[in-house]
Amino acid sequence: MLTSLLPSRVEPYKLAARHERLEGLVPLNQLARLAEEAGDQTGDCHVVLEFGVDAQGRREIRGHLQATLSLACRRCLEPMPQPVESRFLLGMISDEALADELPASHEPVLVENEQLDLLTVVEDELILSLPQVVYHDEKECRVSPEQLVSKAEGSDEKAAPNDNPFAVLNALKSSGALKGKK
Ligand SMILES: [Zn+2]
Repeated sequence: MLTSLLPSRVEPYKLAARHERLEGLVPLNQLARLAEEAGDQTGDCHVVLEFGVDAQGRREIRGHLQATLSLACRRCLEPMPQPVESRFLLGMISDEALADELPASHEPVLVENEQLDLLTVVEDELILSLPQVVYHDEKECRVSPEQLVSKAEGSDEKAAPNDNPFAVLNALKSSGALKGKK
């Protein structure tokens, strides 16, 4: 199991020249801006960063992150676990003005004094990957959709028949019955 922390400060040009791969954890409770956006968090974000230089000589970082955040359900406001995952491609720039020279496939990341704060990078990407709204499944939510009917916003949220817990029981019973007949 992976337990090492991602280093917070690195020298990204050197890492790119050596095509280094960094993998590690970022404790979510270190990320203050994420807490502002999404509430207090526990646990870790799992991060993989691959540094490299592309055919055009651009120094880049291919990244992947995964975390389970605790986000408030929009209906009942209780926190619920929400997995988030993001893949990203960053192009290193030494000056904000150079951001326009990057292709659209690359998000610019500013490298100052040959240093990069990876916690900031990870936090930015986590915030970008936050879902707009999250809801519990109806049967797990403290607030039923009926209680919110007054708010009805387009009511696209079809009440699926298999949300009925008895449907599962019935299915089990009938499959058992079928076996019995053999
Ligand atoms: Zn809820």
